[in-house]
Amino acid sequence: MSPFSPAELAGRVERAAEETRAAGLNGLIITPGPDLLYFSGYASSAATERLTALLIPAEDPPVLLVPKLETADAKGAAGGLVKIIDWMDGMDPYAIFGEMLLPAGRYGISDNTSAVHLLGLQAAMPESSYAALSSAMPMLRAVKGPEELTRLGDAGQAADQAYQEVLRVPFAGRKEAEVASDLASLLRKHGHSQVDFTSVGSGPNGANPHHEAGERVISPGDVVVLDFGGIKDGYGSDTTRTVFVGDEPPAEIRRVHELVRRAQQAAFDAVRPGVECQEIDRVARQVIADGGYGEYFIHRTGHGIGLTTHEPPYMVEGETHTLRPGMCFSIEPGIYLPGRFGVRIEDIVAVTEDGGERLNNTSHSLATVS
Ligand code: ZN
Ligand code: ZN
Ligand code: ZN
Repeated sequence: MSPFSPAELAGRVERAAEETRAAGLNGLIITPGPDLLYFSGYASSAATERLTALLIPAEDPPVLLVPKLETADAKGAAGGLVKIIDWMDGMDPYAIFGEMLLPAGRYGISDNTSAVHLLGLQAAMPESSYAALSSAMPMLRAVKGPEELTRLGDAGQAADQAYQEVLRVPFAGRKEAEVASDLASLLRKHGHSQVDFTSVGSGPNGANPHHEAGERVISPGDVVVLDFGGIKDGYGSDTTRTVFVGDEPPAEIRRVHELVRRAQQAAFDAVRPGVECQEIDRVARQVIADGGYGEYFIHRTGHGIGLTTHEPPYMVEGETHTLRPGMCFSIEPGIYLPGRFGVRIEDIVAVTEDGGERLNNTSHSLATVS
């Protein structure tokens, strides 16, 4: 069964068709993954070499093309909402799908569509052209409905509980990978069905924002960046806290941590409808630059979250889309001192009618662990 109500799905498809017309496209081609789940409720068992694709035309009702052996699953999930047609092995699915497209039409297509399917469509419909959804219509899934916000809030709370519990495990003397596996179990214990990442960056490894977790043994005096998240009841969590191993963090570590905390708070305080996404990035960056560490903040300030843990909108210079109530994204400034340590603080924030609301609420103070 679909995790979404028929009314919710119908509303999404209707809005997508409107936005498609506004974007000057003839329709959307939605393939298995988060986009298909979002619009049809159908989590196709696997992305396979067989074509499954939902067409949302700008003007007509949507049609889902599935391989015959998956028709029953698709009908069960999509709940009769979408017209389903199927194809059998031995037929040319691209020709069948192509017949539903306008010759020389322009279509938005799911980012994660595999090359083999896009190439098949291009061969069948050489006059048509295609644009990645993330560039043609990046805000398609960005505004969350009430039900989605509830689930994102629940996922955030579960991640908060996992963090509070991981602070009780010993860090010193254990490998990063062991602490990471504790975090993964805690996320699952608190209802996550999928763990996307449990990154544990100790000492110099913390200065690499995308360090995962390795063989390094954590020792007293280390700063440790913990960044973890996954999927609970279909929606994502993603939070970061930085902790110190020992009782008394040295002054420099406290100062860098405090600067990141202030940057995160300032960016949060700037959240309200109508503000450009890039402004959130600028606000965080300014605080860190003013503190003298501008060159060590080496990534964008945040990314959207929903059915996946990284999606539009991006809080990055040049992103001029404006915040709207219901958008949900991370605010995660950091400072990375090569060869030494890193600090990052990340919360998921939902835009409200007049500001922002954090979906992660554990303390921002520099926690100490043993
Ligand atoms: Zn990342
Ligand atoms: Zn993160
Ligand atoms: Zn993140």
